[in-house]
Amino acid sequence: MSRSAHPAGPRHADVWPEGHYSAPPADVNALDPKVWAQTVTRTDTGEVSVGGIGVATLAEEFGTPAYFVDETDFRARARAWRTAFGHDADVFYAGKAFLSRAIVRWLHEEGLNLDVCSGGELTTALSAGMPADRIAFHGNNKSTDEITQAIEAGVGRIVLDSFQEIVRVAHIAQSLGTRQRVQIRVTVGVEAHTHEFIATAHEDQKFGIALADGQAAEAVRRALTLDGLELIGIHSHIGSQIFDMAGFEVAARRVVALLAAVRDEHGVELPEIDLGGGLGIAYTSDDDPREPHEIAKALGEIVTRECEAAKLRTPRISVEPGRAIVGPTAFTLYEVGTIKPLEGLRTYVSVDGGMSDNIRTALYDAEYSVALVSRTSDAEPMLVRVVGKHCESGDIVVKDAFLPSDLAPGDLIAVPATGAYCRSMASNYNHALRPPVVAVREGEARVIVRRETEEDLLRLDVG
Ligand SMILES: *Cc1c(COP(=O)(O)O)cnc(C)c1O
Repeated sequence: MSRSAHPAGPRHADVWPEGHYSAPPADVNALDPKVWAQTVTRTDTGEVSVGGIGVATLAEEFGTPAYFVDETDFRARARAWRTAFGHDADVFYAGKAFLSRAIVRWLHEEGLNLDVCSGGELTTALSAGMPADRIAFHGNNKSTDEITQAIEAGVGRIVLDSFQEIVRVAHIAQSLGTRQRVQIRVTVGVEAHTHEFIATAHEDQKFGIALADGQAAEAVRRALTLDGLELIGIHSHIGSQIFDMAGFEVAARRVVALLAAVRDEHGVELPEIDLGGGLGIAYTSDDDPREPHEIAKALGEIVTRECEAAKLRTPRISVEPGRAIVGPTAFTLYEVGTIKPLEGLRTYVSVDGGMSDNIRTALYDAEYSVALVSRTSDAEPMLVRVVGKHCESGDIVVKDAFLPSDLAPGDLIAVPATGAYCRSMASNYNHALRPPVVAVREGEARVIVRRETEEDLLRLDVG
């Protein structure tokens, strides 16, 4: 992404300051369908609507800040993944991206499975009727209580993350008089983020058991000897917000090599491999994500080819997209408050939320887009930084973007692609009340997670 010379306009210096932004958009009112949910559109009046309901009506009824999920889009994306992978593969939605009971029901109805990584996520999934055998349980430090809860519920698989956990899960399963289906999570020495991947020396992390040095082979050896475990496969997850399939290719090749080694040593062909999640989405117009059918085709071909070469039966593949399903389907609606122009730099636009509803910008330097959604404007674009209301100068929602220069307090602006890792990572910093999640579909809007109240805050404060 490049810095660009500034077009003629009264409010800016001749050269834009440092930042990640591209040139100002040709039309600051345009909504790039790449970053906005499927049913989001600008109506004749200039107001933006989702599922046929205007944002002013939504703001009035549900308040701001609030997350609005396009249910039609969510279901379409879930279905696209399901269809792309077909009946010889499983799609596990990664619940940590965003989980609520309505989401669980949508996933169930669309034929997806579900990944959880805590007792809380498991309880949410079960309480919304997800069959336990369609749930996978993850985590690098599952407690004894969580393991017991998962085995008693009958989860379809537990993904074992360490040598200690192999023994722990085996022991608990045996004491409950059962055999638990498990996969072993391996680190394949690939770490992928966005457009790059690195194929060496990424065993230096808390997750999984390294393939290098024969550690993963040793884990398989141990798991196969324990009565409480039924080892069904190998799991790999290489990173997140990935666009380049090359990292998956290396991972698949290394996992299949382990399957072949296991067959040679034990005479056992493990029936499943899980290649994890991490597929990227468009946060800005510069991002070009892959479609589920392209991903399914690429992964299927790699695994089939490698298995043929190793003379293995092709295992059942599973994938675990979180962000790629829910991320693009929601936006956060904010009301504009204080506006602070800094001549020659940028204009700070404060909104009524911030790092409490979207920590990703502060945490990962994530990039986002933003648009004025309560009206259109013919004013010149101005370079803005959208910031929250928290007591922290790193409280940035959108680092660099363009909004019309007649922006005023009371206007509504929206940040797209906030469906993943925003509400699920939300906090009560400054005793902020976590925003509601509202599902919108075909002219109807309903709260699926309500807004927190001051009463909720005080209820926890029992001193
Ligand atoms: C986080 C995670 C995922 C989902 O990642 P996304 O980037 O949301 O697709 C899948 N599998 C595992 C094991 C994870 O930890």
